[in-house]
Amino acid sequence: MSEDLFLKIISREIPADIIYENNDVLAFRDINPQAPLHVLIIPKLRVRTINDMQTQHAELFGKLFLAAREIALEQGVAEDGYRVVMNCNEGGGQTVFHVHLHLLGGRQFGWPPG
Ligand code: 5GP
Repeated sequence: MSEDLFLKIISREIPADIIYENNDVLAFRDINPQAPLHVLIIPKLRVRTINDMQTQHAELFGKLFLAAREIALEQGVAEDGYRVVMNCNEGGGQTVFHVHLHLLGGRQFGWPPG
C-alpha cells in the first residue's frame, strides 16, 4: 500500500468518484465538498507540494489548468465562474501531500477568502 492517499485513488486501491482522466491527470469529487461542485485535479506523477515543483513539471502543471477548464465546461460552471485553489503546506491549508487543484463552483465566492 502506498502512503500517498491520492496515489491509492490513481491505482484504484481506494474508490473515488472519478469524473475526468487522461494520461497525466486524474480528477475526482472531493469527499468533503465545500461547494456544489468540488473537484480535485491531480497529476498522476507524485509531487508533494508547490515547493517541490521543478522546471520539468511546468507542462504537467499547465495540464491541471487545462483539465480544470474542461471540467468547468462539462459541469456547467464555466459561464457563471468558479474558483481554482492549490494549497501549499500546513500554513496554506494543505492536508494531502500530493499536489492538487481544487475546482470549486456552483456558488458565489468572496474575496479575500478568509
Ligand atoms: P488540501 O487540504 O490538501 O488542500 O485538500 C485535500 C482535500 O482532499 C480535502 O478537500 C479533502 O476533503 C479531500 N480528501 C481527503 N481524503 C479524501 C478521500 O479519501 N477521497 C476524496 N475524494 N477526497 C479526499
